[in-house]
Amino acid sequence: MNNSICRAGIDIGGTKTNIGIISEDGRILSSRAIPSEGASDTPAFVDRICSVLEDLSAQQNMQVQDLTHIGVGIPGTADTEHGVVEYSCNLFGFGHVPLGDFFEKRIGRKITLVQDSWAAAWAEHLFGAGRNVKDMMCLTLGTGIGCGVVLGNKVYGGPMHTAGEIGHTPIVWQGRQCSCGRRGCLETYASGTAIWKQATERFPEKLIGKPQHTQTVFEMAYAGDTDALSLISECVEKLGYGIAVAIDLFAVNTVVISGGLSAHQKLMVEPLEGIIRQYGYPSWSNSREINVCVAVLGPDAPMVGAAFLDLSLMAL
Ligand SMILES: [Zn+2]
Repeated sequence: MNNSICRAGIDIGGTKTNIGIISEDGRILSSRAIPSEGASDTPAFVDRICSVLEDLSAQQNMQVQDLTHIGVGIPGTADTEHGVVEYSCNLFGFGHVPLGDFFEKRIGRKITLVQDSWAAAWAEHLFGAGRNVKDMMCLTLGTGIGCGVVLGNKVYGGPMHTAGEIGHTPIVWQGRQCSCGRRGCLETYASGTAIWKQATERFPEKLIGKPQHTQTVFEMAYAGDTDALSLISECVEKLGYGIAVAIDLFAVNTVVISGGLSAHQKLMVEPLEGIIRQYGYPSWSNSREINVCVAVLGPDAPMVGAAFLDLSLMAL
């Protein structure tokens, strides 16, 4: 057996699942990604994940039983106490899926199930942009918008297990239709998917013959296209508005921005502080320091964070 103490983090994403063995100081010792396709056949999917986990453990001269913690992040609402997926419509459907039980049956030990954006926030809190910051939130801007809130050095979840669900906080009354069934959620305005969708509605003729994804809109903006620039600036305005609302509620002064869109620092991140100040409650927005910064751990953050987050570190 390997003498060092290791953990495992598993990040189940919409298209791929990252599985990694993580050292106690947050280094990824080995990792592998497999497609998430077929996750709805959950026992078979869990079997595939566990086979990779056994393989990676063996590479470290360990067995799965030697790992001090196995954490699993999912894109949706997780009941960590019972290891149940409560809501993850893209991957597991709407029903309650006892993912923890499936893992336990396969490998004979418990895993800790958490929401992926909470795991990402925890990783940034432990090893990244939020180190030594006891109260913070970490937004993941990608195809959707996720968020994890750390209060008093614990991930705040609340009894509904949905704290910090800023992506599905309506910011426009009767606004754009959201995948959650409601209208006006922040995610329908400022996520990567939303930016692309709004571009196809506003200037479809400019998108003909170009790659059909969000990056195209950013490339047009960098090239000086005024339609793309004004769309992105509107999206950032709404994003800042949504973050100001979240700060009103949680009173945190550090906001870490992660996810694919955080790469567009000048367009997506730099304008945020000013917008947050403009829309925030004057009690804090006029005088308090607000720290908006870019995440440092990149796309591995949910996997690393899942390896460290357990029930004792969460406020539910
Ligand atoms: Zn929604």
